[in-house]
Amino acid sequence: MLKENLESVEERIRAACTRAGRSRDEVTLIAVSKTKPVEMLQEAYGLGVRVFGENKVQEIRDKYPLMPEDTQWHMIGHLQTNKVKYIVDKVKLIHSVDSLKLAQAIEKEAEKHDRTVDILLEVNVAEETSKFGLKTVEVLPVFEQIAQLKHVKIRGLMTIAPFVDDPEKNRPVFADLHKLYVDIKEKNIDNGTVSILSMGMTNDYEVAIEEGATMVRIGTGIFGARDYSIH
Ligand SMILES: *Cc1c(COP(=O)(O)O)cnc(C)c1O
Repeated sequence: MLKENLESVEERIRAACTRAGRSRDEVTLIAVSKTKPVEMLQEAYGLGVRVFGENKVQEIRDKYPLMPEDTQWHMIGHLQTNKVKYIVDKVKLIHSVDSLKLAQAIEKEAEKHDRTVDILLEVNVAEETSKFGLKTVEVLPVFEQIAQLKHVKIRGLMTIAPFVDDPEKNRPVFADLHKLYVDIKEKNIDNGTVSILSMGMTNDYEVAIEEGATMVRIGTGIFGARDYSIH
């Protein structure tokens, strides 16, 4: 099932790229493996998947030692400052930075490991009260402050669009984030390191790609529905 799912997702990514006149290489697929057993991640690895997204610190800690060394881990979930230390040496990219305080905590831990950590700023474009993330108007001032930190590099923006029945409803959300991304890129604040726009999930990734996503985060479409009752 995993193989067929991956093939179908790949096909749909390609088709969306073609529709948008974009090259397939511009879009990175992140396989969101949260709640899934490590055996499933290993199977996906065997099928060529190298980039995995998790939303809980504990799951990254548990799965990390069980996967091959060239596995890329992306932290996509809300991150508490006191848990940064457990993952800062394990993750390739943190998608969910939504405050200066969190960026400072990452800075502190990154310095201890003598590395720089790539991050994205999470933007709550639709300003849903249930969601984390900066409001659109907060992004630039926070960006400028975080850009001062030596061991944190802002690589772009991320959003979790509203849950909708029709993915077309999220098109304006993705278009808004793309516009903000372009504006920020043009300002060249952090020495031109901004090149990632992380948006689109199982329900709406094709629309997100059409609107300029460079990373899509797909869980259900690859691994099937999640069962939260066993956790
Ligand atoms: C769970 C999750 C996803 C993947 O969701 P699906 O609808 O299963 O594709 C993507 N991004 C974030 C931040 C998530 O928490």
